[in-house]
Amino acid sequence: MSRQISTFNCKTNSVNPATFPISSWEELDEKIALASEVHRLKIWQNSTVRVAFFASLCQKLQQTKSSLKAIYMAESSLNEDRFEREFQRMIRQIKAYSKEGLTLQDEGIKEVLVDRTLEKRWIPLGPAAVFGASNFPLAYGTLGGDTIGALATGCPVIVKGHPLHAGTSTFLADIALSLLDELKLARGIFSHVLDDGFEIGQRLIQDSRINVGAFTGSLSGGTTLFQLAQDRKSPIPFFAEMGSLNPVIIGKKTSNTESFVQHLATAITEDAGQFCTKPGLILIPTEDRNVFEESLTHHLQRANPFPMLHPSIYEKYNDRLAEIEKSHCLRRFEHEKKWYADPAISLISAEEFMDSKVLHQEVFGPFACLVSYDNVAEIQQIFSCIGGQLTTSIIDFHSEAKTLADFVQNFSGRIIFNGVPTGVVVERGMHHGGPFPSTTDVRFSSVGEASLKRFIRPICIQTH
Ligand code: NAP
Repeated sequence: MSRQISTFNCKTNSVNPATFPISSWEELDEKIALASEVHRLKIWQNSTVRVAFFASLCQKLQQTKSSLKAIYMAESSLNEDRFEREFQRMIRQIKAYSKEGLTLQDEGIKEVLVDRTLEKRWIPLGPAAVFGASNFPLAYGTLGGDTIGALATGCPVIVKGHPLHAGTSTFLADIALSLLDELKLARGIFSHVLDDGFEIGQRLIQDSRINVGAFTGSLSGGTTLFQLAQDRKSPIPFFAEMGSLNPVIIGKKTSNTESFVQHLATAITEDAGQFCTKPGLILIPTEDRNVFEESLTHHLQRANPFPMLHPSIYEKYNDRLAEIEKSHCLRRFEHEKKWYADPAISLISAEEFMDSKVLHQEVFGPFACLVSYDNVAEIQQIFSCIGGQLTTSIIDFHSEAKTLADFVQNFSGRIIFNGVPTGVVVERGMHHGGPFPSTTDVRFSSVGEASLKRFIRPICIQTH
């Protein structure tokens, strides 16, 4: 029997009964060959076929929703409310992206010049490799934004499922595969592979038949796979969406501190802070630090406890806290329950923060670093240390807000005035990306209709 993956339920502290086979290299090779053939024969570039597939996919997902929910909750320990939000987002992405794919397919420019005609349009890049993160089993998972975005533009997709939710991933893959069979479509349009290590994923991105990669996950995973994609004989576009500190800059004498801090505490702790947009760095004027710390402490002490996605994520979080504690004072708000994350904060000065590399990278979990600053020059130095961010929030800056925004826009994909960064909506106006190290390509978004542009390229047909 092949090696198997099992998943874990942190709420019940038990291993889930089902197991899932790890893909062999032969299986991977076969799936890439099928995807390559689909691209060569342009089978999936027929828009009528795609429309029928996406419509039936939404129906099938609705019909199987309760079974999916049970697996999702057992593997991720995320609750019913979160499932519902992610499920709706997954459906919304399928509907919106399938429409956008058709628009892009029809979009073009035709210029009739004196001696020639130029016709420019978009074509799919070809077989896409998709890697999803552990924290969004649906929205960034097997049938999440990257898979649907690539499929909607006419690219066949091979998904490397996340081992921490192998059951959810396999369930979704089986729905897509059974639908391809029902509609008598080639299986190479969509495939799914699993691994408990990095070999299958790394082989996938290094294979010369793969033309584009999309990744959501950690900085180390994203940069490793990005480098492998660039080191190929023919380098390919590889879009890695990674973590971020999501700085929240608080102005002097804030008007409604109490309600904002409550909101902030929820953004830090909800779903155990396992969001790429969790506020992990809070900059407060030195004169307000004591009041602010007292208020945040009050709310963190009362925050709802959440289990982490998996014991390995829980252990990584605690290792990071231990690393921080070696050189900084750390305040933990302890929970009794096993695998439930303790919210934690560190309060330090701007100077200390700048010298502390350990705090310049995301801590995945309900931790935030509170940094007191004396002037805007210090804020600017802090950004030079941390680099690109998915988001930056500016709170109560009034007349200085624009000047600050002009500066932070060099480091940010989204600037939020008077709000918290969590809660990414799937809309045309959304941009979910940012300068490195938050992503590997600052020009693109991984959320919203614009995300489809990652999977197409222009071609010009010149006729004389
Ligand atoms: P992860 O450990 O990087 O895993 C993501 C995927 O990449 C998994 O399939 C993983 O495989 C694979 N992978 C990781 N390192 C690899 C390597 N060196 N070689 C080949 N494959 C590799 O990320 P995660 O812990 O699941 O997700 C949490 C992270 O995602 C956080 O940092 C969070 O901020 C980020 N995130 C970002 C966004 C965004 O849009 N920017 C959204 C959600 C989450 P294995 O699991 O088999 O190792």
